[in-house]
Amino acid sequence: MSSGTRIVICGGGAIGAAIAYFASRRGARTTVIERYAVAGAASGNSGGFLALDWCRGAPGRPWLTDGVAITSRLGSPQTTALVEPRAFTTGLMHVAEAHGAVLRHGTVVDLVRSASGGVRGVALAGGEIVEGDAVVIAMGPWSILAARWVPLPAVFGYKGHSLVFETGGSIPAEALFLEYREASGEILTPELFPRADGTTWVCAISTLGPVPVDPADVTPDEGAHARIEALCRNISPALAAAPIKARQACFRPVTEDGLPLIGALPGIEGAYVATGHSVWGMLNAPATGEAMSELILDGAARRVDLAPFAPERLPPLDRARLGDTSG
Ligand SMILES: Cc1cc2nc3c(=O)[nH]c(=O)nc-3n(C[C@H](O)[C@H](O)[C@H](O)COP(=O)(O)OP(=O)(O)OC[C@H]3O[C@@H](n4cnc5c(N)ncnc54)[C@H](O)[C@@H]3O)c2cc1C
Repeated sequence: MSSGTRIVICGGGAIGAAIAYFASRRGARTTVIERYAVAGAASGNSGGFLALDWCRGAPGRPWLTDGVAITSRLGSPQTTALVEPRAFTTGLMHVAEAHGAVLRHGTVVDLVRSASGGVRGVALAGGEIVEGDAVVIAMGPWSILAARWVPLPAVFGYKGHSLVFETGGSIPAEALFLEYREASGEILTPELFPRADGTTWVCAISTLGPVPVDPADVTPDEGAHARIEALCRNISPALAAAPIKARQACFRPVTEDGLPLIGALPGIEGAYVATGHSVWGMLNAPATGEAMSELILDGAARRVDLAPFAPERLPPLDRARLGDTSG
C-alpha cells in the first residue's frame, strides 16, 4: 500500500493514537474510531512510567516515614522517564489530526469484507460503514470483541486502581516501587510516580475480572481506593496531607503469553491487530505506531522485528467463549 492508503483504526488509546500519528505523517488517510473518549481508558489513567533498564541500591527518602525501606533502585534519570498519559495520548492524536487524521466517535461492531474476502471497512453501531483499505484492531482489552469478526487470540483485562494526589513540590521527581504489609497481613506492591504537574500518581491492587462491554462502565472494586488511600496516608506525611485529585480504575490489555499481538491477521487481506501491551503500553506505543505504519504502508516494519508478536503464534479464540457481548 502507499501514501493515500485509507487506514481505519478501531480504538483511540495510546496504541491507536500512535498508529494514527505515524501513518498520517506518512500521508495515509487515517480514521480513528473511538467508542468512549480518546485516552478514556488505561491510556489516560496509567502511570506513564518509561524505563530502559533496572538496577539496584538506593538510600532512604526523607519524605517517607521511618518504616519504609528502600531495597533496590530502578534505573536513573538517564534511563527512566514519566509522561502524563492523557496528555501523551491526546497529544499524539492532535498531531495526527493536524496531519489529516480524522477522529470519529462511534462503536465498531464488525469488520466488513470486500467481494474478494479482504477488508472493505468496519461497521458502526447504527449501521454506518466506514470504508478503508486496512483496518487495525487497537481496542485494548475490548479487542476481544473483535474475535467475533476476525481470527484473533484471546485478550484479557487486568484491572488496576490508582489515586492522584495534589502534592505540589513536596515529593521529588523519583518513582518508587514498594512493598507494603497491611494490618491483615496482605502485602501490597504500590507504585508511586510524582509528576511534573505537581501531582503524584499511586497505583496498587490489581484484579482479574470481567471487562464491561462499554468502556464508560469501568468501576473500581469495592474498597480498593480506600485501601490505597490508607496505605498512602501511612507511608508518607506528604501524602497524608495531600488532597486527592482523582480516583481511577482501568484495565491493562493482556494476552495468554504476556506478549502483545502486533501484526497482520491471517486470512484477511488488510486486517491488522495491535494490542495486549499489558503494563508497558505507554512505553511501547511509539514503537508500535511506527512499526504498524511501516507494516501497512511498506509491507514490513523496518526498525522493529515483529515476528515475536505475530498474532498467529497463539490459537484464535473460540467464538462460543465470547457469549453475549452486544451493546
Ligand atoms: C493501572 C495501570 C498502570 C499502568 N502504568 C503504565 C506505565 O507506567 N507505563 C506503561 O508503559 N504502561 C502502563 N500501563 C499500561 C498501559 O496503560 C496500557 O498498556 C495502554 O494504555 C494500552 O493502550 P491501548 O491503546 O492498547 O488500550 P486502551 O487505552 O484501553 O484503549 C482502547 C480504546 O478502545 C476503545 N474502544 C473499546 N471498544 C471499542 C469499540 N467497539 N469501538 C471503538 N473503540 C472502542 C476504548 O474506549 C479505549 O479508548 C498501565 C496500565 C494500568 C491499568
